[in-house]
Amino acid sequence: MNPKIKYSMLTALAAALATVPVKALLYKPEKVNGTPFPEENVDLERYRKNLSDAIKIKTIAEKDPELTNWAPFEEFHTFLKERYPLIHEKLELTVLAKGSLLYRWKGTDSSLDPIALLSHQDVVPISEGTENDWINPPFSGFDDGEFIWGRGALDMKNHLIAVMESVETLLQEGFTPVRDVYICLGHNEEVMSSDSSGAIVMCNYFLEKGIKLDCVIDEGGAILPVNVKGVINKNLAGIGVAEKGYVDVEVAVNAKGGHSSQAPNHTALGHLADVIKDIENNQFKASLSPMMMELFDKIGRNVSYPARLITCNIKLLKPLLTKVMTFIPPAASMIRTTTGVTMASGSPAPNVLPQRATINVNFRTYPGQTVDDVVAHLRKVIKNKNVEINVKPGWKNPSKFSPTDSRCFKALEEICYRMNNDTIVAPYLVMGGTDACHYEPVCDNIYRYSPFMVDTALLLTTHGTNERIPVATLKDGVAFFKRYIKIVSAE
Ligand SMILES: [Zn+2]
Repeated sequence: MNPKIKYSMLTALAAALATVPVKALLYKPEKVNGTPFPEENVDLERYRKNLSDAIKIKTIAEKDPELTNWAPFEEFHTFLKERYPLIHEKLELTVLAKGSLLYRWKGTDSSLDPIALLSHQDVVPISEGTENDWINPPFSGFDDGEFIWGRGALDMKNHLIAVMESVETLLQEGFTPVRDVYICLGHNEEVMSSDSSGAIVMCNYFLEKGIKLDCVIDEGGAILPVNVKGVINKNLAGIGVAEKGYVDVEVAVNAKGGHSSQAPNHTALGHLADVIKDIENNQFKASLSPMMMELFDKIGRNVSYPARLITCNIKLLKPLLTKVMTFIPPAASMIRTTTGVTMASGSPAPNVLPQRATINVNFRTYPGQTVDDVVAHLRKVIKNKNVEINVKPGWKNPSKFSPTDSRCFKALEEICYRMNNDTIVAPYLVMGGTDACHYEPVCDNIYRYSPFMVDTALLLTTHGTNERIPVATLKDGVAFFKRYIKIVSAE
């Protein structure tokens, strides 16, 4: 190489490297109003009692509404009426799809789009045989002073009762919103019941009335402690701005069958083994969406100085980061449609050749990809063209991305930060489904966030054994919703 060119290249590189420490020093969290709020009046004892009693009511929905035991839902509705008298006196209540409750709190300015607070009343059942693994019975609502135990403690009677507490307390204080405030309590979120979904029926109610919602808040994110020694010690409030879709696809190979004593070199299952390899070796393309870049940027700005030398160059590191993330399944799920071969079937007996072999492939689709894209992808990557590809019922396309520069997102950011200056508020992608996505026809600003501090180990008890919520996080939950309603229902 010409020494002149070599010299100038080295000079440029040295100059670039020299600017990194300066860039890292300047790479700091953006300024957000951090003024602490005045103390918010919360009746913590009432919240604890009501959450504990709400858990005792077994509100379990079935996919087929005919099979649902409606008595606990009726009991739950009466319970809400008794515990929240002001809400039932001042708000307009419409019961939809038998079990869903839609409350309207009339604001002072009907020209502004209303806001909605969502929760679901139903909980998942206890897996058979695990009942005795619970330290305190799953429908006891036991409050041991440190935790409130039971199904729904995290998903999501904690959230529902906090919303009711916040509105009841605001009514006691004589607060009137400017915008209309809707409380939408679905009854069958957990069963993905498409036809009778309470959320869809409630959304249709808004559609028919020509009501466009300014913003929706539902379950999804939470406040997670993030602690890496010497690098970061903060709380991460993840606001779910989108959720993934869900598709199960059956891939089948048909064959002659017959007695296994005269097996061909490859049975239908053998051919499927190749199909599985084709599918697994051709994963969906991963890419860091603007949302993920924003998430990394928000966290990157909050790490300590030496680590910021790396995080301040996140854009340059994008290709490397994407590659690394694909090797870590939880990280990969944030950046691409995931593929999981989950079930297989062959013949009904050990000595019978399968006439038909099938596998089930479960996909969690990334926003922007549809069920048709999944089928097209399978057709492309499976070399064996004699396979059948059948999409199973119950699929759901992913949601859109809600913006992070909306009035509502900015308010969420400000509230979380003002409640605790050690909080990083960042958008993220929700893996599971929520009722919120059904509101897309009437709302562009949909956020999934439960204002409770819960560590990862505890979060894993959701839908599992020993689901429980720390009592210490409850007060802030109600205070959050009071502040949220006061700020977001105004203007
Ligand atoms: Zn839920």
